Amino acid sequence: MIPFEYRTPKNLKEVHATLKEFGADAKLISGGTALVIMMKQRLVRPSCLVSLGSVRGLNGIELKNGGISIGGLATHRSVEGSSLVRRRLPMLAETYHHVATLRIRNVATVGGGLAHADPNQDHPPSLIALGATVKVTSANGSRVVPLDEFFKGYYETILNPDEIITEVMVPKLATNTGAAYIKFLPRTADDYATVSAAAVLTLDKTNKTIADVRIALGSVGETPIRATAAEALLRGQPLKAEAFAEAGEKAKEAVDPVSDFRGSAAYKKDMAGVFVRRALEKALADIRQQAKAKSAPKPAKKKVAKKKGKRK
Ligand SMILES: Cc1cc2nc3c(=O)[nH]c(=O)nc-3n(C[C@H](O)[C@H](O)[C@H](O)COP(=O)(O)OP(=O)(O)OC[C@H]3O[C@@H](n4cnc5c(N)ncnc54)[C@H](O)[C@@H]3O)c2cc1C
Repeated sequence: MIPFEYRTPKNLKEVHATLKEFGADAKLISGGTALVIMMKQRLVRPSCLVSLGSVRGLNGIELKNGGISIGGLATHRSVEGSSLVRRRLPMLAETYHHVATLRIRNVATVGGGLAHADPNQDHPPSLIALGATVKVTSANGSRVVPLDEFFKGYYETILNPDEIITEVMVPKLATNTGAAYIKFLPRTADDYATVSAAAVLTLDKTNKTIADVRIALGSVGETPIRATAAEALLRGQPLKAEAFAEAGEKAKEAVDPVSDFRGSAAYKKDMAGVFVRRALEKALADIRQQAKAKSAPKPAKKKVAKKKGKRK
């Protein structure tokens, strides 16, 4: 490895100051799962590593304005295991569960994962479909960016070298909404996806019309891809058996995969169509499952027989 300085700022102010001091030569390090590999391969050669490990208060997961706020330093494992996320957004917990292995998820962070910007990652499609935004801060202030505008190319984002992701905000889902993430994994369970798709579907009150939908795909282009034309095809339309397959066909027009050891470009394009259809079907099943759970009779409270006599 090439020698570098290692700084351990204790708060955001110190992080901002260090990033300002070293400029584009500095690199933030959170879990280090992606960055260390890139340094070993000499793909990046920072003169200073700015560790976020000692910065407190950026790993919370909490309810905010009805949605869920996730700190930039929350680990994948903590999102996966959060009772709040599992209750409110089970699809997001499931998505993080799909990332790599437990050892990686225990240290990899939400902010580091997004800044890494590998188009094969699992969480970006789900977060884009959920309408998430990221908050980034620097010595000059902060800004909030919709995640579907965050990725620019392979390992490239809109982040400036002096900016840090401090929060990911997932808005409250509308009533009658279902969500699904599916990942095609023909090799091993901890591999990157060959193709992945996320769908968030909202039906109107009659349950017969699609009120809203968001669809995003992974591993089929230079960035995660939001399938806006496929969404437009469905939005406001009656829920018909063939509608999801048509949306899948439309989504294929938005993708531009490359051939690699996980599959040929043509195969991935076809799978993108299939996976969009299946993700939509799964999101619909999620809505129906939630409705079923709501209408199910609540279990009667057990009557506890009072014992006679005094308690000892
Ligand atoms: C063996 C292996 C298997 C993997 N499999 C999968 C998989 O199946 N699915 C999947 O989705 N991902 C997979 N990954 C990638 C994994 O998601 C990333 O390695 C991880 O999310 C990066 O998080 P980190 O905290 O370790 O980031 P780091 O390695 O610390 O940093 C990554 C990048 O983000 C920058 N950065 C770090 N924190 C911040 C911040 N708060 N703000 C701004 N920039 C920041 C760093 O400067 C660096 O450029 C795998 C990785 C490995 C090593």
